[in-house]
Amino acid sequence: MRLLLVNDDGIYSPGLLALARIARRFGEVRIVAPDVEQSSMGQAITHSRPLSIKQTPIGDFDAWRVNGTPSDCAALGLNAWSQVHAVLSGINLGLNLGNSAWHSGTLAAARQAVLLGCRGIALSVVVGDGEPDFAGLEPFLNRVLELLLTGDAPRLVNVNFPREPEGLYWTRVSVRHYDGRVVPDKDPYGRELFWLAVRPVEEVEPDTDRWAIRHGLVSLSPLRLDLTDEEALVRMKLPRASETSVLATAPPV
Ligand code: MN
Repeated sequence: MRLLLVNDDGIYSPGLLALARIARRFGEVRIVAPDVEQSSMGQAITHSRPLSIKQTPIGDFDAWRVNGTPSDCAALGLNAWSQVHAVLSGINLGLNLGNSAWHSGTLAAARQAVLLGCRGIALSVVVGDGEPDFAGLEPFLNRVLELLLTGDAPRLVNVNFPREPEGLYWTRVSVRHYDGRVVPDKDPYGRELFWLAVRPVEEVEPDTDRWAIRHGLVSLSPLRLDLTDEEALVRMKLPRASETSVLATAPPV
């Protein structure tokens, strides 16, 4: 099977190499990744300038670096290689939990793959002091790929690894809290600056991605692309006496 590897930390990230070494057990691996870090770029695509793609040595893997975003890399990789079974994005150095799904370039590249008709798997790991223990994660990463590269697995899955996993757990996305924070600072001349940062979330809802990580479990969240608010759609379509004139009725088929 053909596996396209992308990331948002940049092509020289140790997380990407760690993923490539495990992924090659499952099939043929190609790497197409940003030439510099593109974390928190979300699903941006580059449309106002052309992209270049250059072959670059990453171990003994076929690898190309792109002067674009993670989603650009997924698109260029899938364009150049036919019959790709899955796009694997990561391993990101840092968790992508809860509402960070809106910003994550790691998850966005996997989502871009699904938009283009391919399977997408995003992989992220907690970071603390020093590099993550990729050797320790290996059996769990192996198990995750075994599970997610099979036919009936969900098409888009966001996977997060705790420091020392004890098992795998299917989770929902924790959306009750948004951890976005603006931190003011000053430059050396006393002028105002700002950092966009995160605040720790104390409370976690059971069965969510954050909950799994707190409990030492690898979190697997199956995701969908349809953002429609089903409950609101039903509610807004209910006839209300005051509004009947603005509501269209479905045209005859
Ligand atoms: Mn990143």
